[in-house]
Amino acid sequence: MSRMQDRVVAVTGAGKGIGRGIAKVFAAHGARVLIVDLDGANAAETVKAIEAAGGTAAALEADVTRAEDRQRIPAEALDRYGALDVLCSNVGIFPSARIEAMSEDDWDKVQTLNLKSAFLVVQTCLPALKKSKHGRIVLTSSITGPITGYAGWAHYGASKAGMLGFMRSAAIEFAPMGITINAVLPGNIRTEGLTGIGDDYLRTMERAIPMGRLGTPEDIGNAALFLASDEAAYITGQTIVVDGGQTLPESIDAMQ
Ligand code: NAP
Repeated sequence: MSRMQDRVVAVTGAGKGIGRGIAKVFAAHGARVLIVDLDGANAAETVKAIEAAGGTAAALEADVTRAEDRQRIPAEALDRYGALDVLCSNVGIFPSARIEAMSEDDWDKVQTLNLKSAFLVVQTCLPALKKSKHGRIVLTSSITGPITGYAGWAHYGASKAGMLGFMRSAAIEFAPMGITINAVLPGNIRTEGLTGIGDDYLRTMERAIPMGRLGTPEDIGNAALFLASDEAAYITGQTIVVDGGQTLPESIDAMQ
């Protein structure tokens, strides 16, 4: 029996990148996965990849900032598969803006998508998760904000640290419901979103990572899988850093 056999998992932002990696890992372990993404064609591509590997998935084109679209996440999971056991709230953007030049709109866009929509997606899925005997929520936060800083990402870091503040109180509220909520903190993961920043950034990052490589979306998927598994039933309100050791060195010299 696979670890996630027949569990129903919704992953937001799963049309590419980390979300796609999470979806593929859960599907490879027997889950039926709802692929939620702004871009329906990308969501369908993720479904195709999962089905080609023998898994089960369905695409849902949805914008998590829109209430009517969020409602469709648990509705579609229940209609199609009869349950919702695991929510992976993964959607996020990481535009760059220095504080001196950052507009209120720059700030609000990042908080609205990264932080507010995570709260709202969790809240929307809660009634369905309460009915599951294995209710699990896994948030995709980041090392940026909770642990590290990066010029240009003050708004992003605030949103990712904010997710953890939300998570800790949510864990207390959800414990009596039999639902756990935890977060994965990725380091630098090779995704379409990250490679868009440019080769210089990627090369600098590789040099800063003790393991000498960027992470893969599947590296994050494996951590999310553990947090959603029966083995993690007694873990809630916690974080797992998946960064190839990037946050460990005190300086570049510390790696020599
Ligand atoms: P990505 O490659 O840009 O993928 C994000 C996906 O989310 C895209 O398919 C995007 O669709 C979708 N999306 C954007 N806005 C949406 C909305 N309103 N509703 C539904 N879907 C939406 O990003 P990623 O690198 O995989 O990052 C995923 C998560 O990991 C984010 O929360 C990010 O902050 C976090 N993270 C990433 C890294 C990294 O190194 N990559 C490190 C730490 C944390 P469109 O392309 O159509 O916009």
